[in-house]
Formats: sequence, structure tokens, C-alpha cells
Amino acid sequence: MRVLALPAEARALILDFDGTLYSNPGYAAFQEEVLVGRLARELGEEAAATRARLARMRAEREAAGLGKTSLGRLFAELGVSIQTSALWREQLIEPGRWLGPDGRLDEALARLEARYALALVTNNPRSVGAKGLEALGVARRFRALVGLDDTMESKPAPEPFLLAARLLGVPAISCVSVGDRLEVDLAPALGLGMGAILVEGVEDLYGLPGFLEAGPAPSSPREARRGGGMRP
Ligand SMILES: [Mg+2]
Repeated sequence: MRVLALPAEARALILDFDGTLYSNPGYAAFQEEVLVGRLARELGEEAAATRARLARMRAEREAAGLGKTSLGRLFAELGVSIQTSALWREQLIEPGRWLGPDGRLDEALARLEARYALALVTNNPRSVGAKGLEALGVARRFRALVGLDDTMESKPAPEPFLLAARLLGVPAISCVSVGDRLEVDLAPALGLGMGAILVEGVEDLYGLPGFLEAGPAPSSPREARRGGGMRP
């Protein structure tokens, strides 16, 4: 876990889903593979050719100093609309096949929920995000959910973050984005004045309540004292 920035008074956490609320490299790889396969069919080529094409595009973007980007953006560059991307994802991705209830995560989110409003922001469609939260058994912890089809923009665009803040009724500067991809989850949040915490997977989420309760969230002396006094 790496804290890149924390607001003086954090009031909301905007959490990423894949690679943040669960650690399952098989599921992450499956999602990419099935979408690349679908794109290959659309382009009328072998999946290997599409995979090579996407790798080339990613390498070109990185060489141009544009950083990493989301799969959705690469698809858009190849002429696949966000609407079509969202539809494919809804048809092909079934989180319940890969994920099950995570009691430790629920416990951690319950502790976070006591101090922060929680929102999920995912580059999957809203329905896939909702199914994912249900599969993990943590849906009730979230006050807002923003999916790809809510703004028709995928992270690292700022729109999904701004919508999440608005739905929670919390100004952007009092939000903290928590995610596993610097360029996709955190750079845009920092650009909006939000805090940002990089995680390597769900293990970091288990430790997040203890980490934030230990001090860094309430950063002014007054807040620190108040926070300290509330701890049992
Ligand atoms: Mg992620």
C-alpha cells in the first residue's frame, strides 16, 4: 500500500473493483481474454493478432509518454464504441463464477463505512459492478456505484470520479481514490484534487481501516485529537 496524497479531512473513499476488492489474477486475465476474443471476432482476425495489435498500441502510448491506459480506451481507438464495449462486458463477464463472499473484506469495509461514505467506480458496466459486490457479499457497504455506462467514459477519464463524488454529496477534495492502477485509478483523482492510495490487492484493503484509524486521515492536530478520542 502506498499513500500518494490524503486530504486534511477525508470524508469519502472511491474504490476500484478489479484487483482492489479481490485478488484473483485468473479472473482479471479471463476478462481481458474474453473481451480481446470478442474484439478479434469483430475485426475478423485471430485473437493472437488482436492481442499483438493491443500490445503495440499500449507500447506506442507508453513510448509517447501517455502512460498506461484502460482496455476500453484502446477498444474505442479501434472503433468500438463505449456502448458496445459495455454490452460485450455485460454479455461475457459473470463475476459470480469467479468470486465468493469475503468476510474479511466485509469487516474492513464496515469499519471504513463508519468513517467514510463509500463509492465503487468500475470500468465495467454498472450491472457487472453490482454483481461483483453481491458476489463478494459487500454490496450493502456502498452508497454509490458508478459503472462504465453511467458516464460513457472509462477511467482514467475524470467523469466517473466526479459523478461518484456528486452521488455521495462530498466535494472532490474530500474524496480519496483507492485502486491498484496508478495511471487509471489514481492519476485522474489526483488531478481533481482528491487523495490517492495505491493498493496491490485485497490484502491491502484488509489493512486499510487500521492504517487510516492510526492517524493519517485526520491530519490537523484538532482532528487527530478528536479522532483519537473516539477510538475505544
Ligand atoms: Mg483495478
